[in-house]
Amino acid sequence: MTTVTIAKGDGIGPEIMDATLSVLKAAGAQIKTEEITVGEKEYLSGNTSGISSQAWDTVRRNKILLKGPITTPQGGGYKSLNVSIRKSLGLYANVRPCVSMHPYVATKHPKMDMVIVRENEEDLYAGIEHQQTDEVMQCLKLISRPGCEKIVRYAFEYARHYGRKKVTCFTKDNIMKQTDGLFHKVFDEIAAEYPEIENEHWIIDIGAAKMADSPEEFDVIVMPNLYGDIQSDVAAQIAGSVGLAGSSNIGEECAMFEAIHGSAPLISGQNKANPSGLLQGAVMMLNHIGQTEVAEKIQNAWLRTIEEGKHTFDIYKEGTSTELLGTKEFAEAVVANL
Ligand code: NAD
Repeated sequence: MTTVTIAKGDGIGPEIMDATLSVLKAAGAQIKTEEITVGEKEYLSGNTSGISSQAWDTVRRNKILLKGPITTPQGGGYKSLNVSIRKSLGLYANVRPCVSMHPYVATKHPKMDMVIVRENEEDLYAGIEHQQTDEVMQCLKLISRPGCEKIVRYAFEYARHYGRKKVTCFTKDNIMKQTDGLFHKVFDEIAAEYPEIENEHWIIDIGAAKMADSPEEFDVIVMPNLYGDIQSDVAAQIAGSVGLAGSSNIGEECAMFEAIHGSAPLISGQNKANPSGLLQGAVMMLNHIGQTEVAEKIQNAWLRTIEEGKHTFDIYKEGTSTELLGTKEFAEAVVANL
């Protein structure tokens, strides 16, 4: 039995977390849950970090966190708790698989099956941002050799473990010659240690264009933090919906699992959101803690539900879908397929 910390988060977070936990329970996942409150409720009670010290203790003690999306204000206000959690727990690798589910979910890219491995602690997300004068703001891009080595090696080890054929690197090292230049240099050095895996590098702008046009040509793609954040949303959306993709955030000691999307405030509280992204995150969590049979059982039931055309509104399409389901009803359909 593994104890997992649960944070429901904001917006659609509580609905998709309840749906996900109902599937995990019905499938017989051997987990004990300990819930913490994070995000808006904490901010409203005056805690500017969005998380209490007791909640931090719980997260650090249990080492495994399943987290719903957290709302972060734009252009001001408190710091992103998502970024703080990743940095404080040393979750250096953000792994985001994006697979097309053709012909069951509409996509222009039927053969797409890629995994984005995003560096998760450095780059422009290191939080070194300040005001120089009233009219000049500065944000520093931080890239370190140890950070590059950890993430690039993780990408190649991931490819080796899952039998993937190619690892691609995206940087903008023609312009940011030192920071992105270091990332690319380390990529080339580590790639040489994996001769059985093909490797290539694309400058991010043309690489991004190529990924949006012919994603089936990519397999594993490793990149610095900001590029990975943006590219993985694009990849999930062109596969079918941001609501379908889950992600793992892996560190030496702790790991956090979540959907790739945000708190979607406009659809919250309406039993509309697709819980698949968080459920996919939970499947990654079960594999991570060694409960591979339950993970497989849930994955197969989820695939069957999607294949039956039982869809939430974001992927519902006349012709391919058979039934439009709410968040709760979708989870019930997955449970019925276990
Ligand atoms: P979002 O991902 O919340 O929503 C983008 C679009 O996708 C919206 O149209 C939304 O309705 C749709 N969508 C998202 N998830 C869906 C689901 N499960 N089912 C169906 N449709 C879904 O992005 P946003 O609107 O830019 O951000 C909202 C808030 O979430 C912001 O405060 C942002 O900071 C936060 N955010 C949090 C995380 C996280 O916790 N890891 C990630 C991204 C954004």
